[in-house]
Amino acid sequence: MSKRDYYEVLGVERGADQKEIKKAYRRLAQKYHPDRNPDDASAEAKFREVSEAYEILTDDEKRAAYDQFGHAGVDGQAGGFGGGGFGGAGAGGFSDIFGDVFGDIFGGGGARRNPNAPQRGADLRYNLELDLEDAVAGTTVDIRVPRHVPCGHCDGNGAEPGSSKETCPTCHGMGQVRMQQGFFAVQQTCPTCHGRGESIKVPCRECHGEGRVRETRTLSVKIPAGVDTGDRIRLNNEGETGINGGPPGDLYVQVAIKPHPIFERDGRNLHCEMPINFIDAALGGELEVPTLEGRVKLKIPAETQTGKLFRLRGKGVKPVRGGPAGDLLCKVVVETPVHLTEQQKDLLRQFEASLGNSNHHSPKKDGWFDGVKRFFEDMKP
Ligand SMILES: [Zn+2]
Ligand SMILES: [Zn+2]
Repeated sequence: MSKRDYYEVLGVERGADQKEIKKAYRRLAQKYHPDRNPDDASAEAKFREVSEAYEILTDDEKRAAYDQFGHAGVDGQAGGFGGGGFGGAGAGGFSDIFGDVFGDIFGGGGARRNPNAPQRGADLRYNLELDLEDAVAGTTVDIRVPRHVPCGHCDGNGAEPGSSKETCPTCHGMGQVRMQQGFFAVQQTCPTCHGRGESIKVPCRECHGEGRVRETRTLSVKIPAGVDTGDRIRLNNEGETGINGGPPGDLYVQVAIKPHPIFERDGRNLHCEMPINFIDAALGGELEVPTLEGRVKLKIPAETQTGKLFRLRGKGVKPVRGGPAGDLLCKVVVETPVHLTEQQKDLLRQFEASLGNSNHHSPKKDGWFDGVKRFFEDMKP
């Protein structure tokens, strides 16, 4: 389950203010609302996505965490959107937001949820940057993953040990209340117990009544050889802890390859530029070329032109999904000599004189001058 950028989801700029965000959300949520798109799973998914983005971006604290850490900073904080299905029992979350903004547009109909139903924990995403060498050869990395776990002090129930819980007096344990808004009766999350259905007399001093605390764990992740930017590695059950005994979510490690000083990767192939001096280019010779497995010798034929590509078969990357390794493509860049002494310049002048006036020694130049001549003649009126 890859998540799109929240700003992109709502189609707003990163610096958008609350008013713009609200407006964008209102428009999109109307479009994708399940009441208007019955039995349309993709609209439902869109609606969830839009609602989640709205929830995060309208909460200053969550938005700041998102801006800094991306989805990893806020995953699991969007109430109820993590994994539980939409519609029917266990559908949480949507009525919360929906109630606030849409109470006056769509009447009632908010799914009644059981606050004690098990919910699957949210999936988490971790952005991992790898060196090209590690991505090609495979490696093991330790990553630090923040997630919520049940509070050990209160056993996850949110009440200070020894104190009691009682049925919420506002909603009588339903977790939701009906409110009259204009002509419509609207179902809203109970403002007293925030949907739990129970009220806590003395909140747990460790988790402040939330029933869970944030902890950071170190996980050892095996990166298979050949991964590329955009690949995701799924770690089952390493995501956010489930709620009310629900199963945990999954952790996705999203791979991005850092730029390499020599090689550029294009899928299975590697590219590099190989500067050579014009004497080697003219006379030919043997050069040392870098590959990911060390240096190899490459024969350059005489009269090699700049831009010529040499293909070293099998010196590319073995793809993570199988198949043969790609190639290394070395592009020759002929260099003009610099810092010449007077004597060296003299030698070059002598060399130039030896070439005479013909372009016989310059395979490209001849054709190029013809082309320029035609170009200027065509311009004449
Ligand atoms: Zn606690
Ligand atoms: Zn209540």
